Amino acid sequence: MCEYEGPRFTKEVADERYKDRFVTYLFSCGDDGMVIDGFGTAMFINHSCDPNCETEDHGGRVYIVAVRDIAAGEELTYEYNLCDSDDAEADCYCGAATCRGTMFSEAELKRRARVAKRLERKAKRS
Ligand SMILES: [Zn+2]
Repeated sequence: MCEYEGPRFTKEVADERYKDRFVTYLFSCGDDGMVIDGFGTAMFINHSCDPNCETEDHGGRVYIVAVRDIAAGEELTYEYNLCDSDDAEADCYCGAATCRGTMFSEAELKRRARVAKRLERKAKRS
């Protein structure tokens, strides 16, 4: 088990602080609008659609927890379930048989489909 540690601030502060940075290690924790600016081992754990770990929230602290036995030397992974509101792509190339092709969460994919439809309708009208 490994905690996702780092300073915490609001999404607005994070957006401002990292607007010019391509790579960030922000972990958004729930609906309170706060993010953790990853600083530690957990920030290096990669995404997989067939992960061997998952994240657990315990009173606002985020832990990466194994969901099955992990062999020595096996890479730790968990599902990112990204929900960024910006337009950045997050294609997945994890290679798992069950790969979804994206690191976005189901909810985020639905939201993006809605936005795309709205833009399509708007484009047709004009
Ligand atoms: Zn994948």
